[in-house]
Amino acid sequence: MDLDLSSAALENCIYCGACFRYCVLGAYNELDGMELKALVAGVTRIARKGYRPEKDGRIKELLDRCTLQGYCNKVCPAMVNPLVRNRVAKKRIEEER
Ligand code: SF4
Repeated sequence: MDLDLSSAALENCIYCGACFRYCVLGAYNELDGMELKALVAGVTRIARKGYRPEKDGRIKELLDRCTLQGYCNKVCPAMVNPLVRNRVAKKRIEEER
């Protein structure tokens, strides 16, 4: 799996939330009050800039539900690779521990 964030094409993201909404596991059917757009923005920010334990705790908790099945890549309408985005964000979180 390529962990080069540039391969995720994040600049194409329109923050529609489909990558989480249509998770094949249904892991994001309930978001504990968070907006899908905010979740996408939070995960994207972590992938790009790193994890801030004091501010990103809720994003981390939600991203922990992702088991990297990759179905998100099939539903993204904007040629983004959300699987790489999520993998990089998870790695950034691990590095901060
Ligand atoms: S990665 Fe794709 S599916 Fe996810 S919010 Fe961005 S455009 Fe939508």
